Amino acid sequence: MSTVVPGQGAADIRKESDSMGQPEQSVLEVRNVTKTYQIGDEIAVKALDGVSLNVDKGELIAIIGPSGSGKSTLMHSIGLLDHPSTGEVLVGGIDVTEMDENELARVRNKEIGFVFQAFNLLARTSAIENVELPLIYAGVPATERKRRATEALERVGLGGRLQHNSSQLSGGQQQRVAIARALVTEPSIILADEPTGNLDSKSGVEVMAFLQELNRSGVTIVLVTHDAHVAKHAMRVVQIADGRIVQDYMNTPEERIDASLELKKLQAEKEASVEL
Ligand code: ADP
Ligand code: MG
Repeated sequence: MSTVVPGQGAADIRKESDSMGQPEQSVLEVRNVTKTYQIGDEIAVKALDGVSLNVDKGELIAIIGPSGSGKSTLMHSIGLLDHPSTGEVLVGGIDVTEMDENELARVRNKEIGFVFQAFNLLARTSAIENVELPLIYAGVPATERKRRATEALERVGLGGRLQHNSSQLSGGQQQRVAIARALVTEPSIILADEPTGNLDSKSGVEVMAFLQELNRSGVTIVLVTHDAHVAKHAMRVVQIADGRIVQDYMNTPEERIDASLELKKLQAEKEASVEL
């Protein structure tokens, strides 16, 4: 049940129209995207080689592949951070391929929340100020900014750390601030590139538990990982190699890992070792 030929998946059958984001439930779609990086005059690296992918509302997708396979390039294309060389990108059914930088930035700020491997928080800046930042760009007034940033931090369990700087937070906590920052604009999708890549295993499990919880509350999430264990937390796994999708399958309920159970297990093990 597990293979889909790239470019011939259900997405192509399902999506017949380009019309204005009618309730097709497609949050994001890329069609036949390629990306070639030119290095000097001689060398061209084909980082993406004809990728088509449709992300529906409510999905939790892991894009998995070895280092250099094109995962980050794909995420930058989906996230409107970089233009593909050829192909189309649709957000909520609307083709953004021809948009200029200003229009793209507007769509990006409204629809997409980013979580990066290296957290990318501002140093010497409090958690709440970091989370308020996208709201400043969106022109939200100060009082409402504070309220929404506080809510988002409470949602990731950091209501007691509003004034802490990045240097006063653990890696796991910093990543939770980054998740709060991604959430605060209520985007239609969260894109996370190796969100557990810089974390110890327990913090990694915590972050995955948050992402799963958010997804259960209706947030669409695409995460990128080179780690098969992390990918088992997703509903759907899209495997890429050499810039192409080679597999697109659902994790079975038995395969799928519930990070909150993993956390409980870690907690129980810790308590057992204390009792000894
Ligand atoms: P992954 O995230 O899966 O490790 P990337 O998308 O970062 O893969 O990279 C895919 C390929 O494109 C690699 O061969 C990489 O070296 C190349 N690449 C990525 N970014 C650039 C760039 N800015 N300039 C040139 N080559 C790049
Ligand atoms: Mg990468």
